Amino acid sequence: MLKRLFLVRDAWREQFGTKAPVDLVADDSLVGSLPSDDHARLLQLRRNPRREGFADVRFVPYADPVFLRLARERGRYVISRDRFTDLRRKEPWVEQQSERILSWTTGADRRVRLHPSGIVPVPPHRVSQAIEFKDLKHLQRLDPEHPGHARILRSHWRCTALGCDTAMRWPDGLLSWPAVSRTGAAVCTCGALLENLGPRGVTRSFVVSDATAADLPGGLSAGEYLRFPVSVGDAVQLGRGTLRHGINLGAEELNPPVGVKRVSRVHLLLSMEEQPGSGGPQAYAVDLGSGNGTVVVRSSGATRRIEPGERVAFGEMDRLVLGDAVTLRLSGQRYFSAEQALPRELGDGGGGRTLLS
Ligand SMILES: [Zn+2]
Repeated sequence: MLKRLFLVRDAWREQFGTKAPVDLVADDSLVGSLPSDDHARLLQLRRNPRREGFADVRFVPYADPVFLRLARERGRYVISRDRFTDLRRKEPWVEQQSERILSWTTGADRRVRLHPSGIVPVPPHRVSQAIEFKDLKHLQRLDPEHPGHARILRSHWRCTALGCDTAMRWPDGLLSWPAVSRTGAAVCTCGALLENLGPRGVTRSFVVSDATAADLPGGLSAGEYLRFPVSVGDAVQLGRGTLRHGINLGAEELNPPVGVKRVSRVHLLLSMEEQPGSGGPQAYAVDLGSGNGTVVVRSSGATRRIEPGERVAFGEMDRLVLGDAVTLRLSGQRYFSAEQALPRELGDGGGGRTLLS
């Protein structure tokens, strides 16, 4: 397994010269997937990357967004068999400069050669599906097609562990999906088993993006940096800083846009409520007296600043802009309804294991 990594490194040097630096960015889970004979070499690689011919080696929970961002910022190439379907919106250059994404093949002479991986544009709805599938399956290890996982997805969960940050922030139940243990139990980020609070209602996904990023075709916005689920009956605060019952839009690990500073500490209250007699639940937002305000942009293009304390209903075609900095919209996707069958070819969010960038 690890041998292939070195063969790819050698192919890069042969084609681009020994001076062209190579960094390795890998998923933490790579360690567990390697055969035990590779562990010593991996340790050596982590301790002394230069001796193994790498400029830098880093392990992160989810490598793809990290090395795509590094490649964009530094104008570098990426060597990967992944097609990054779930990251096309966040990193539009993957389609625009697809020649910078290289894959490899091993010839009959066992020599490894690098070549452009042939990434082609995909329609926006395929990107949405891939994002939501990847979020569930790879970040949360939840597979909507697995019966045990489906039960976890359709329930509300609470952590009761003493001293747990998540338990303090979400005393009435987690907003987002729980993690799953190896044995299929719902667990908290602190590691404690979660308490099942009963079934979760219809759940919709909200998308947060940089309001200053350019629009993409299909009314989608670039600069997307966060998605979170809200179920009927849930109410969640959005702001900048750690909030009880809330989401911190400025959390460093999200890599938020610089303008997020214009979002107030407690900015907006978002809820999803059942509408008797209508086609489904309705999303509502209340501006909580934010410093820089909230604007609602209707599908007609009509734009209006909402009053502090005023409650506005908004739908899939509308957007909210917080402090002129951050855009919030409803995703078109509906989580794991019976009708929502995810195409199998997107089952891993775009395919392939990434070894190196
Ligand atoms: Zn916990």
